[in-house]
Formats: sequence, structure tokens, C-alpha cells
Amino acid sequence: MKNITILGSTGSIGTNALEIIRNKRDEFNVIGLSAHSNYKLIIEQIKEFNPKYISIGTEEGKEKIKAEFPELEVYVGREGLKKLGQLEETDIILVSVIGAIGIEATSEAIKLGKRIALANKETMVAGGDYINKLLKENSKSEIIPVDSEHSAIFQSLLAGKKSQVKNIILTASGGTFRGKKEEELKDVTVEEALKHPNWSMGKKITVDSSSLVNKGLEVIEAHHLFNVDYDQIKVVIHPQSIIHSLVEFQDNAVIAQLGVTDMKLPIQLAFTYPDRIQNNCLDTLDLLKVGNLTFEEPDRKVFKGLDLAYKAGKIGKSMPTVLNAANEIAVELFLNKKIKFLDIYKIIEKAMDNHSLVEINDLDSILKVDNATREWVYKNYVNII
Ligand code: NDP
Ligand code: MG
Repeated sequence: MKNITILGSTGSIGTNALEIIRNKRDEFNVIGLSAHSNYKLIIEQIKEFNPKYISIGTEEGKEKIKAEFPELEVYVGREGLKKLGQLEETDIILVSVIGAIGIEATSEAIKLGKRIALANKETMVAGGDYINKLLKENSKSEIIPVDSEHSAIFQSLLAGKKSQVKNIILTASGGTFRGKKEEELKDVTVEEALKHPNWSMGKKITVDSSSLVNKGLEVIEAHHLFNVDYDQIKVVIHPQSIIHSLVEFQDNAVIAQLGVTDMKLPIQLAFTYPDRIQNNCLDTLDLLKVGNLTFEEPDRKVFKGLDLAYKAGKIGKSMPTVLNAANEIAVELFLNKKIKFLDIYKIIEKAMDNHSLVEINDLDSILKVDNATREWVYKNYVNII
């Protein structure tokens, strides 16, 4: 029996994870859950899964939970997330909150030698160097990626030696606006940006997919997770999202992982690896139904998110932290209809131009840059757009 803690249990990844657990009660036990504002759903989850520890975003949420479960340990806010990262009883912590807010809890769990099932790519983008340093110091801890591309790469890497990898090839669906020209993107609405062709996900990552910033974040995530140079990471548009990513080895063999577009596959594998157990809540892949698998070059001129991320990644140090924080605020402004879709790129670009690089050696330096960038974007976005 494995004890699981889920950060972000009310989100898209979190609820998928609970569905897996619901179907495998003899394999998994829920120890901790966290939500931000959705106390109604977490109360339902507490009733069903009986966890010992809860973290919630607001005092109001805590009161509502305490009213129903007076015995339960309920923590609040940032400190609460951190506490959930520090639970000795956890075997596996699924980090599936949205944004760089996941970094503290992830760090704490690494220090305790836990397995991290990492969906929260922003943590790796904002603090990859620091997270890798922590992993070196705490060799019992391991990250098993949940992001579908990185799970595919993780699986494909098992076919050869890491030292003999030539390239990593990330596939991208191309998002809602694939094939559109800049002119056509000027006035797209939030509702249009949220219509993803293949995946059902939270709002922020769906917008990131439409702008290709998501793929950019994934390039940086891959660099840190698999220790490969940026020049060895390629991106190809694959609109069917059946091949989840590929690894090319020195002998030119290319190994890929295929599957239906359902996050329950990589989530379950991150819980069970190295075992592969039956997954009752997942369709099988029917290749005959899929028919064609096609590939295209990404349009880097229109979808600037990809190259901005390569640039930030290659500069390194604090620049990826800035890219991530600027994007988080830009997407929030877009979702609140304060800026237009293409302004997201302008804001990221300006935030990067404005930044003076610093070394990232510890959590403090990451949080400082992250906060300063958020404040700078809030203060200046009106002048940028
Ligand atoms: P959702 O928006 O669906 O869920 C986010 C979760 O985080 C919710 O539980 C939410 O709580 C919580 N949360 C939001 N803001 C805060 C905050 N400030 N502090 C603490 N908790 C917070 O996101 P997704 O599930 O789509 O994505 C989660 C992560 O997984 C992201 O990093 C994303 O990039 C990554 N990912 C997601 C994929 C997907 O298919 N969805 C695929 C690959 C990666 P509440 O509900 O109370 O607001
Ligand atoms: Mg992905």
C-alpha cells in the first residue's frame, strides 16, 4: 500500500489522480490533499478518501472544512503547502498545483527522500538548477515526470544509455490556434483560447498550449529533468497527440511512447514505476481508429513562446524564472480580459529585457526573482501592451 499526497487535488490532474486511486483502493491510500479556493470539492474528496492532512488557500476555506471535520489537521496558504511537503508518512507526493507556488513543497519532499510525481512544470522551469542540486544531495529522492511528453521521454530512455542519447524530440499538438497567422490572432478571445483540440486541462495550461509557451516551458523542463543541452531538444507539431514524445539515440534509432490522450496513464505510471499495472480507467489505443499520424514544423515566427523559452533557457541563471513568472501574470491578465492574446509575448519579452541576471543557488533567490517579476509586470503591463 502506497501513501499518496496530492497538491492541487481539485484540479484537472488532481481529480484524474483521485480517479486512479478510486479504482485501486488496495494499492493506494490518500494521506494529504490540497486545494486553493474550491473548498466544496475538497470537502467531498475528504469524505471519500479520508486523508489525515489538508491544506487550503484561505481561512474561510479552513473554517468550512473544520466545521465538517473538527478532528482533521488543516493548514492554510503557502505555509500549508509546505507542511504537506514535509509529511513523513507520504510515500509519493503528486505536485499538481498550478504555477511556481509548488516549488517549496517539492523542495521539502526532496529533502525527506520522497518520490515526487511532478506535473507542476513551472517548478522545474523556475527552479530547475536548485531542484537538481537538492536531488543530488538527497539521492533517495526521485522525480518521476507526469507531464505527458516527459513521461514519454522517461519511458523511451529506458531503451538505451543516457550517455548515448542524441536528441530528445518533444511533440506538440499545436494548440487551438495551430495554422493561424499573426493577423488572425490579434483579437482572439479567452473562450477561443480555452478550446483545446485534444486535451481537457486547467485554464492556465490550455492558454499556454495555445501560445506554445507550454512547449517552451516543456523544453526547459526537459533540459533539467534529463540533463540534455538545449540544442539536443527538438520540437515537432503532431496534431493527433498520439505519440507523446521520442528519444533519438546515437545509432539513429528513435524510440517513442504512444497512447490515448489521457493524463491517467502518466499519473498512474508515476505512482507504480517500475511496475506497470492494469489501468481500469483508461481506453486502449486503437491505431486503426487513429488512422494517420502527421508531423509539422512549428511556426516560430507567429508562436513566439517557443523561442522565448529557448532564449531564456540558454541564458540560464534567473532568466527562466523570469520567463515563467511573467507568463503566469500575463496569462492571468489575459484570462481576466485585461490584455490581448499576443500581448502575452510582449510582456514576457519586456520582462526578460528588463531583468538583470542573478545566480540561482537557493530557494530564496528563486522566490525573490519570481516576486520581483510578478510585481514588475503588474506595474508596467499597461505601458507594454
Ligand atoms: P488546474 O487549474 O486544473 O488545477 C490547479 C490546482 O492547483 C487546483 O487544485 C487549484 O485549487 C490549485 N491551486 C491554484 N492556485 C493555487 C495557489 N495559488 N496555491 C495553491 N494551490 C493552487 O491545473 P491543472 O491540473 O491543469 O495543472 C496542474 C499542473 O500540472 C500545472 O503545473 C500544469 O502545467 C501541469 N500539467 C497539467 C496537465 C493537464 O492535463 N491538466 C498536463 C501536464 C502538466 P482550486 O481548485 O481550489 O483553485
Ligand atoms: Mg505536456
